[in-house]
Amino acid sequence: MQPRDILHPRPEGLYCPPGDFFIDPVRPVDRALITHGHSDHARAGHGHVLATRQTLDIMALRYGEHFAGATQEAGYGKEITVNGVRVSFHPAGHVLGSAQIAVEHGGTRIVASGDYKRAADPTCADFELVPCDVFITEATFGLPVFRHPDAADEIARLLKSADQFPERAHLVGAYALGKAQRVIRLIRDAGYSEPLYIHGALAKLCEYYQAQGIDLGRLEPATVDTGTKGDFAGAIVVGTPSAFADRWARRFPDPVTAFASGWMRIRQRVKQRGVELPLIVSDHSDWDELIETIAATGASEVWVTHGREEALVRWCEMQGIKARPLHLVGYEDEAE
Ligand SMILES: [Zn+2]
Repeated sequence: MQPRDILHPRPEGLYCPPGDFFIDPVRPVDRALITHGHSDHARAGHGHVLATRQTLDIMALRYGEHFAGATQEAGYGKEITVNGVRVSFHPAGHVLGSAQIAVEHGGTRIVASGDYKRAADPTCADFELVPCDVFITEATFGLPVFRHPDAADEIARLLKSADQFPERAHLVGAYALGKAQRVIRLIRDAGYSEPLYIHGALAKLCEYYQAQGIDLGRLEPATVDTGTKGDFAGAIVVGTPSAFADRWARRFPDPVTAFASGWMRIRQRVKQRGVELPLIVSDHSDWDELIETIAATGASEVWVTHGREEALVRWCEMQGIKARPLHLVGYEDEAE
């Protein structure tokens, strides 16, 4: 049996014919296995969803309790048989609950890694290396120019700026699931113990992270309607990037706009978004992490998806690893 007989792209997503299931389908299907809660991977309306407890919880928070006909929890490392195909979920180090999905059939093991990173992140379980025959990797930052700096150093620049400009509010744009909580946690780890102010769109997920034992310190709603401008002088406010593009943001005193994203490496994007303080903090692997991980899995074949596939495919071929782009549609990088 060829690997492509075990998993191959369909318009709905990556499909496993012998198991009759999809991984991270972008359209409603009967049976879905879901790597993590970002909206491009986790959609509502499937008949049956198999995912980690935390991903199921996050989907319920975002879409409401009835987001799927039925759900089943996949514990990390536990083998589950789906229509005779063995599957198991392993930490991906991307956001809380994120998993790589190993699919094993006819003696071939394919690992669909979803989105992943190798850098330390105290807000989710560390990436686990799963040896496999075929490794499916993301390529969001699949170019050698992408090398993420140490996230702690980026946060140190934010705190330095907050120190330097005590009369200004610092508005930190960070996506609602994963990035925001990681940024908050990094600020705490840097020793900042003042309350942090959060936009309402982050409240439910921050609460959930805290209920899962991830200490984010004291969080206060950043409700500007009730206070005066001066209330937020010297404060650090975390919100979704769209919130800061909104009128909401104009109420803060002389704000310093920061944005935490892997894309802040690109000067043009910093300019486009009008970001004053770019913070290069990514929940995706950079180039070095991608190639180290590919080599470490021992895979003899690599399929590259969502992002800059070509450079990574070429790198694999130069190492004697069979590689090809996997053309999956409908994935944007919500997480970045
Ligand atoms: Zn993601």
